[in-house]
Amino acid sequence: MKSISIIGAGPAGIEAASILAQQGIAVTLFEKSSSAMKNVADKTFLFPDFAAASDIVEAMNKKLLNSNITLHCDTEIVALEREGKTSWKLTDAKGMSYYSDLVLIATGYTPFDAHRKEELGYGIYNGVVTSLDMEKMIRYDKIVNSLGEKPRRVVFLQCVGSRDEKSGNHYCSKICCVTAVKQAIELKRCLPDTEAYVFYMDLRMWGQHFEELYRQAQQEYGIRFVRGRISEASGTFDGRVQIKAEDTLMGLPLRMTTDLLVLMVGMEASEGTRCLGKACGIGGEYGFVQSKDPHLNDTATDQEGIFVCGTCKRPMSINDSINDARSAAVTILQAIQ
Ligand SMILES: Cc1cc2nc3c(=O)[nH]c(=O)nc-3n(C[C@H](O)[C@H](O)[C@H](O)COP(=O)(O)OP(=O)(O)OC[C@H]3O[C@@H](n4cnc5c(N)ncnc54)[C@H](O)[C@@H]3O)c2cc1C
Ligand code: SF4
Repeated sequence: MKSISIIGAGPAGIEAASILAQQGIAVTLFEKSSSAMKNVADKTFLFPDFAAASDIVEAMNKKLLNSNITLHCDTEIVALEREGKTSWKLTDAKGMSYYSDLVLIATGYTPFDAHRKEELGYGIYNGVVTSLDMEKMIRYDKIVNSLGEKPRRVVFLQCVGSRDEKSGNHYCSKICCVTAVKQAIELKRCLPDTEAYVFYMDLRMWGQHFEELYRQAQQEYGIRFVRGRISEASGTFDGRVQIKAEDTLMGLPLRMTTDLLVLMVGMEASEGTRCLGKACGIGGEYGFVQSKDPHLNDTATDQEGIFVCGTCKRPMSINDSINDARSAAVTILQAIQ
């Protein structure tokens, strides 16, 4: 029987491990954090249906209770190299080595670091937060401005670190349009009197129920959508944030003051994705890993014995990552037959 290692215990890695384990195949799963699912556990409610992130984490963790799965947490795989003709050697950050015939890379994404967009004031003005900070505010029912008071106005800004020349990420992160709509609705549910604005380049409501959510945001909650890009944010003497933007529909420059500016950060390849992709020769654009063929074979790679799934390839939602992992599991089952 061939040995199988999976790197990354997010939705994709766990789903693939679970499918293989159900087929009676032993799988070793490596996770660099102290627990699985950390990139979902830091969310509160999920689009498109406001499911509790904690329920999804619990359901995925249950899948790990199969005796065919051995999970090593606190184990960051930092090197991946060929061992002989058919095997791979994995080395962790503590210098321990593991050997495996087949390796599935599911090392996922990292959120864009908003400090890199200095002109938007993250880390400089307390009234500028990211979508991940907003998730926490919603979870603890503590949506407050920089003075700890209820905000009168909240502005959400799309495409931070995606579709952006300056940060070098030309791709669309796919999940942030619907996340902004979801968070704006959550804001209005918590604080109905607070004004909510979403500044967008164009709204990409590609998934099932996304468009309905967008309509609901406008019609039921009175959330205002402005087609335009914010070029600069600065602080005011009373702790608010002033934004400079252009309304690209009206062709007019615009200034606005807000209590909170929420930066909708995109997804970048995680450090693990970048490092392991490079190590085994499947590193692709923007640090994501590259599959063999995006149409016909999207979970195998040009390296025999190496497979890929989930957001280590490109931005995806949770259900797309899980579906992709199922596809990877089938590809692996075919490879070991
Ligand atoms: C602000 C924001 C909000 C979002 N909201 C939603 C939502 O509401 N609904 C939705 O469907 N999706 C949402 N997403 C997207 C969702 O988080 C991803 O689709 C999902 O987490 C991808 O799963 P994955 O397994 O591919 O990657 P990840 O969840 O990133 O999992 C990869 C795992 O690999 C581990 N790892 C990385 N490198 C190594 C290494 N070298 N060795 C060992 N382990 C390693 C990581 O620690 C991580 O646990 C959101 C994303 C963002 C940024
Ligand atoms: S999903 Fe929306 S906010 Fe995110 S990068 Fe794409 S267009 Fe911009």
